Amino acid sequence: MENKKEYRNWLNQMNLEHPLVIAGPCSAETEEQVLKIANQLKESDVTAYRAGIWKPRTRPGMFEGVGAIGLKWLQRVKEETGLMIATEVANSVHVDLALEHNVDILWIGARSTVSPFIVQEIADALKGTDKIVLIKNPVNPDLSLWMGGLERIHSADIKNIGVIHRGFSSYDKSKYRNNPEWQIAVEFQNNFPDIPLICDPSHIAGRRDLIFDLSQTSLDLNYDGLMIESHWDPDNAWSDAAQQVTPDRLIEIMKDLKIRDKTSQGEDYQNKLNNLRSQIDAADQNLLTTLGKRMEVAKGIGKLKSENNVAILQNKRWNEILGKMILDGEDHGLSEEFILRIFKAIHQESINNQKKILNK
Ligand code: PEP
Ligand code: MN
Repeated sequence: MENKKEYRNWLNQMNLEHPLVIAGPCSAETEEQVLKIANQLKESDVTAYRAGIWKPRTRPGMFEGVGAIGLKWLQRVKEETGLMIATEVANSVHVDLALEHNVDILWIGARSTVSPFIVQEIADALKGTDKIVLIKNPVNPDLSLWMGGLERIHSADIKNIGVIHRGFSSYDKSKYRNNPEWQIAVEFQNNFPDIPLICDPSHIAGRRDLIFDLSQTSLDLNYDGLMIESHWDPDNAWSDAAQQVTPDRLIEIMKDLKIRDKTSQGEDYQNKLNNLRSQIDAADQNLLTTLGKRMEVAKGIGKLKSENNVAILQNKRWNEILGKMILDGEDHGLSEEFILRIFKAIHQESINNQKKILNK
């Protein structure tokens, strides 16, 4: 699949003066709840109203969605507010029902994108549709799986497509429910610059106080839109209570977000940018030289270990390095998370090199 300008058509046709905003509750709970939130959002920058009808839950026994009846409520939202309507589909039955009820945007959830079988079933059921289909990233940080999902939908002759970045699960604890791993979404963007890319800060964050910052970061990275969960009474929502914001808060967030220009043609801006970019290039070259030198030293150690028949991995020494680098990194304004990542990668490369020497 190659990048094409046409992928942007559906978004361009909306003629928005701001990024696309899809908002609404995690789950449709009652007809009253669905309509109440929609009415609170209709006079805002929200273009499409989301509500989960079938909820993929990690553990059984949690609220699994109201089912097809909720589609009728969404139809009422469209009639009463003029908002587009959006919901998640996870199999061909969902697709048929959503299409029958004229749902405008169908998204494939993170737990479905992991399965090529499911994505293919959904693609076959959607074949040739002119509805908008958005593919969330898979739960695990796997760019190919995400691209594969997009390709399956694209191959089913579906023209109006986009992707949603909702973060990636990880066994390690962090402040996020799902780590953003921005670099994966940015790589997606590099491969398909014209596929609309939407950020779902709600599922990345897992808690409402992080939503603004995540949204701003995504806009700074040129994302095309946001999908944010909003509920009139977040704390009592039937699913994802901690991460939902009230419609009032959502409207405030949208007002406070800074939308940056993609680029500026001003001469002064271009000169300054060129200058800063040369500094970055020079710094990157220095990094490579330094890394190369460090690796030569590591190889020297590998040789010494080999001659003396000593194991490669010396845990105590490695933990000392890591501890020291985290402290020193702080002095340079570098976060612990970043230092850990970068030094783990460097260490792995050293081990690989030493292994080659020891196994010679
Ligand atoms: C959702 O959007 O409510 C949802 C279940 O999201 P995800 O598939 O990203 O977990
Ligand atoms: Mn949710």
